[in-house]
Amino acid sequence: MRRVYMDHNATCPMDERVIEAMIPYFEEKFGNASSLHSFGREARDAVEKAREEVARLLNAEPQEIIFTSGGTESNNLAIKGYCWRNRERGNHIITTKIEHHAVLNPVKQLEKEGFRVTYLPVDKYGRVDLEDLKKAITRETILVSIMMANNEVGTIEPIRELAKISQERGIAFHTDAVQAVGKIKVDVKKLGVDFLSLSGHKIYGPKGIGVLYIKKGRKIEPLITGGHHEKNLRAGTENVPAIVGLGEAAKIARKEWKEESERIKNLRDKLEKGILERIPYVRINGHPQYRLPNTLNVSFEYVEGESIILNLDLEGIAVSSGSACTSGTLEPSHVLMAMGVPAVTAQGSVRFSLGKDNREEDIDYLLEVLPPIIERLRKMSPLYSGK
Ligand SMILES: *Cc1c(COP(=O)(O)O)cnc(C)c1O
Repeated sequence: MRRVYMDHNATCPMDERVIEAMIPYFEEKFGNASSLHSFGREARDAVEKAREEVARLLNAEPQEIIFTSGGTESNNLAIKGYCWRNRERGNHIITTKIEHHAVLNPVKQLEKEGFRVTYLPVDKYGRVDLEDLKKAITRETILVSIMMANNEVGTIEPIRELAKISQERGIAFHTDAVQAVGKIKVDVKKLGVDFLSLSGHKIYGPKGIGVLYIKKGRKIEPLITGGHHEKNLRAGTENVPAIVGLGEAAKIARKEWKEESERIKNLRDKLEKGILERIPYVRINGHPQYRLPNTLNVSFEYVEGESIILNLDLEGIAVSSGSACTSGTLEPSHVLMAMGVPAVTAQGSVRFSLGKDNREEDIDYLLEVLPPIIERLRKMSPLYSGK
């Protein structure tokens, strides 16, 4: 059967070149990057080369790049690390209602510890209003954390402007750029952010590796203590093969992101247009203009997203629902809820997230398979009767 993967916002396949770059570090180049001998130096050189590649991708300095176990840890390190270290300066944090749980839950943890948190609303496209940020800031505010691009609907936030507002008031700014890196331009100097998170497996690198960019001079508390790795900010023997893989993925992203994003956007637009032409009662979620080039989130009225996903899976097509389905309890997506999408509509949402391995034929196949699935499911839906 034909297999089509359209869930790149969940994870990406590794680029072949990334795998090739990693292999020697599983085999003969197995040294500990902290060892003084030639085996150690070989590993250290590879780690520092990867650090330079990531820095180049972000327009950062290599010393500003800290390797972590992924986007989740990077977010935790930025948020908890900064708040714990700067507690005496204030106890207020500002974030948004549409963050990934890797931001929402660390913030919630701080709330339990006595921090006060403001969750900014978004408009119907998922964008944060600059005025809302200005209004939320108090003398107690020490950190603002706003994602660069949303993983469910792809909406891109005005990070440069939001960061400027924070910086002018001496407030640190963190952005979860896990979905943005490799898809749109991410330049830490132009953005003016203090902290930025990225993840290896969302840019065709390995899982279990990520980066936190920490602007020179910003002080944080480590979450994991032990040896003197990563400037005492993240103890533990470096995962050299994964770091090398991430470095290679960063290099490829820097050279190829623009062309690939353009190609993928064309495919995404074709898919969007095709769905709108072929299927009635659909709504596109996300900003028409400020949206990741690979992401299409669609609500199909009168059907459940999970049923669509399972039916597409039977045809070999992998997509995901906007809603997080955990242990059988179907809760509508917090992102779509914040955007004001009615709960029943949100339940019928599906996220198509395209990537480097997708071709025009994949779109044709999806557009052939999807309309009859929706029609069949709607015929079985009590909500749809009479239409
Ligand atoms: C995937 C993702 C994360 C988590 O990254 P991991 O490397 O899987 O821990 C965080 N934020 C966003 C927006 C994501 O899409």
